[in-house]
Amino acid sequence: MNVQSQVRVRFAPSPTGHLHVGGARSAIFNWLYARNRSGVFILRIEDTDRERSSETMVQGILEGMAWLGIGPDEGPHFQSRAQSLHVENARKLLDEGKAYRCYCTTEELKEHRTRTAGSGKPGPTCPGGCRSLVEPDDGRPFAVRFAVPPGEIAWDDLIHGDTRFDGETLEDFVILRSDGTPTYMLSVVSDDASQRITDVIRGDDHISNTPKQILLYQALAYPVPRFGHMPLILGEDKKRLSKRHGAVSVLQYRDEGFLPEAMFNFLALLGWSPGDDRQQIDRSTLVSEFSLSGIGKAGAVFDRAKLEWLNGRYVNDLTLHDFETAVQPGLEAAGLWSDDLRTGRKDWFRKLLLILQPRCRTLADFPAQAVRMLDPADDFDYDEKAARKHLKGDLLRDNMVELAGRLEVLENWRPDLLEMVFRTLAEERDISAGKLIHPVRLAVTGSGSSPGLFEVLELLGRDRTLTRLERLVELLTKRPAPL
Ligand code: GLU
Repeated sequence: MNVQSQVRVRFAPSPTGHLHVGGARSAIFNWLYARNRSGVFILRIEDTDRERSSETMVQGILEGMAWLGIGPDEGPHFQSRAQSLHVENARKLLDEGKAYRCYCTTEELKEHRTRTAGSGKPGPTCPGGCRSLVEPDDGRPFAVRFAVPPGEIAWDDLIHGDTRFDGETLEDFVILRSDGTPTYMLSVVSDDASQRITDVIRGDDHISNTPKQILLYQALAYPVPRFGHMPLILGEDKKRLSKRHGAVSVLQYRDEGFLPEAMFNFLALLGWSPGDDRQQIDRSTLVSEFSLSGIGKAGAVFDRAKLEWLNGRYVNDLTLHDFETAVQPGLEAAGLWSDDLRTGRKDWFRKLLLILQPRCRTLADFPAQAVRMLDPADDFDYDEKAARKHLKGDLLRDNMVELAGRLEVLENWRPDLLEMVFRTLAEERDISAGKLIHPVRLAVTGSGSSPGLFEVLELLGRDRTLTRLERLVELLTKRPAPL
């Protein structure tokens, strides 16, 4: 076992795809573990599949990690640049008789596999019996296979506890392909060893690779690191998380208006628990409380509704200044930004931010909710369902006309006075205040829901309120309710 005292962990993505939530969670667990143990978090880009790897993906991974605030302490190291070490290790194993040349062709191996499949017992690794060949390399192409020794391979998994594999069930796996390139199995061990990784923490999907890797460590006389395998992330249907469930790039969540701290918190709780039911936990608390023993053995379900809820809490906790900074890009993209929101209309805009902030689950909710206040156009559509529900009754038009008249002459355009106008009229007409409030909300926002109507009207101002109310009256005149 490894005797090094400082924890060194790594995140080792292949740049053949985006940094999706599964990868990001692995990175976060490693990062938290390193921070908790005052260790080192290393990034290694496993780019040996030259055809499927791309520089764009590497940049995306770095960008996603930076967004989540988990930049590496060391790296990125690029696996492809260490190939000579991997090849050297293969040679060493060959020289020591711990690996052998396999001359079987792909076709022969395929046929062999079909023939032995389903027999229940693993047959010899290859049909040529290459492991026991004594003839020297005669110039034919060959792959190098590791000669799996008999016996059991066991380790104390940091998450699953005692884990064992029978060596008899493992075939002599390839470590160097016939084109001379090292395989994942050899590269990952060579790199983990040369980067002095003490703890390999990765997904359960790698568990069957671990016995082979332990054998390689032993054969190469490297100290064996500790291993921990995290349960996979599942969709709500308990199937392995896929794109359909939300296994998309973390940057897509950024673009949808999620905050990095919320995403970080959410992913940290995906499979790990602090031991109680706290959900919103800040980064420094996560660092101090994180331990591998808090990771469950069963798959963790990705719950988008929870992510939205948690994000809403983080959005709500932003200072007004940070909230303003965070919503600006979305407003710009929606064509709703103008610089006077920071100057001439600063106080007005701050009020708008204040009333909408508690109602936003994501930053993307802000432009959608603020549009009627920021867009000067008055001829927007009403939400159909809300219109059907609230724009009805014989007296609606008349009530609206009367209300508009009273608002026109209201001395002070203040929420409390506005409310008084509504309540007084409702009392006089013996109707609930809602019969006035809901239609007016539709008239001024087009929507069936908004922050408190009187604050909305205050911000909208008298002129725009009356223009929009008149438009409703006109519509009701042309077409009796319900619209
Ligand atoms: N590059 C591998 C992957 O993306 C990870 C290797 C490892 O963690 O050992 O699945």
